[in-house]
Amino acid sequence: MKRVNPRQLYMTQWAYEDPACLERMRRLMRGFGLPEDRVRILDEDALAQAIVENNWHDLDIRQGRSDFAFSGDPDVVFNSFRWMDADEMRACVERNPILGELRGYSRGAARALYGFPDFYHHEVRDASAKHRVNCWTLHDLHSARGCFHKCQYCRRGRMTTLMLDIEDFLTHVDRLLEQNPWQKVTRYDVESDCLVLEPEYGMCRALVEHFAQKDDRYIILFSKSDNVDFLLDLEHKGHTIMLWTLSTPTVSERIEVDTATTEERLIAARKCQEAGYTVRFKFKPIIPIADWRAEATKMIEMLFDYVQPDNLSMEMLFFNNTAELEELFSKDLFDPDFFRLMAAHEAATGLPDGAHVIPHDFRAMVYRHYAKEVQRVSPDARLSLCAETKAMWTEMASLLGQTAEHFVCNCSPASVPGARGDQIYSEDGAIPLFRA
Ligand code: SF4
Repeated sequence: MKRVNPRQLYMTQWAYEDPACLERMRRLMRGFGLPEDRVRILDEDALAQAIVENNWHDLDIRQGRSDFAFSGDPDVVFNSFRWMDADEMRACVERNPILGELRGYSRGAARALYGFPDFYHHEVRDASAKHRVNCWTLHDLHSARGCFHKCQYCRRGRMTTLMLDIEDFLTHVDRLLEQNPWQKVTRYDVESDCLVLEPEYGMCRALVEHFAQKDDRYIILFSKSDNVDFLLDLEHKGHTIMLWTLSTPTVSERIEVDTATTEERLIAARKCQEAGYTVRFKFKPIIPIADWRAEATKMIEMLFDYVQPDNLSMEMLFFNNTAELEELFSKDLFDPDFFRLMAAHEAATGLPDGAHVIPHDFRAMVYRHYAKEVQRVSPDARLSLCAETKAMWTEMASLLGQTAEHFVCNCSPASVPGARGDQIYSEDGAIPLFRA
């Protein structure tokens, strides 16, 4: 694993009672270089106390904010899914009032701590939604909450809880896939960075080997880390896709704290490509620092020097408002005109679309630069928008060579390795299908 030094260490009582979870906790503790007696065991009541003592009830703070008074690595809670049904969850909330009191990210984290995080989330493409995002319907897998990186725009760096019942998780994943035969590609894990604690955790290896047994299903490992050596000798049989978010050098070094740099991610990707993995990149979040054009050009040139990606996507940063933007990031990184543009846009519109706060025309200008540079360096590369509006897709379609209804992207459930946009179609406008 990467060298990390968790602050507080706990294990839930229900995970402690499972021999497989206990063994995984011990392996992770050896990886941390810490003695097992640092781990305190928590029943439900003690967990409520630990939440308050460690301020885990106040996790909804982005890490760049000045009131994020924390540095170092997160607290760790070794845990396991309790696979509760709806009645059991209700009873758990009644027994533990703190679960009903929390909101936002802290609420989701508390549910995970009590052993009932969602092991997947379901996004549904909805043409009637007010602020429509043009992404396909999909399920995304999770087995952890929290992250050892400290990206300034994120809030996951203070507490990590890891579900250690890997075999049960795989059983539930299989059930989900059986219920959704159209989902050929499934991503893991946007609630954490899945590579940092490997191979000690063991989930990535388990997923790689599990999906290697399947005829037509693929798993995506999603990361900003370069911790890939444990993957290189695994029998993946082409059924694992490595996906990195790739940001420009200054963003990776100044804003995405403790992540691998742009070049380190590319070196890791090259190792994986040489080991036969499909590699993809998401330019996300694109942060319009002052020198964004030159940095994007440099990053794209570096990318194709190192690897031949299967596909690429791009998505701009979002934030709540201009005040938050100014608080999250060092102002010296930005052109002051960008703050002025955002302030004027906020005053004029009130930022009604929380997923696309930067004005449409500015986003389109950035995407055009990226698309032209990708085409200049690699004319056949497949490039898409991520989490963008239908209007943006319509405007960019000719430049991308893909349309809003026929496109491949990094994490689409139909984007099997090598797929092209013209091979993707949908019968209901929400679920994508792949035609060989
Ligand atoms: S790597 Fe991802 S999950 Fe981790 S801090 Fe950065 S944005 Fe958050």
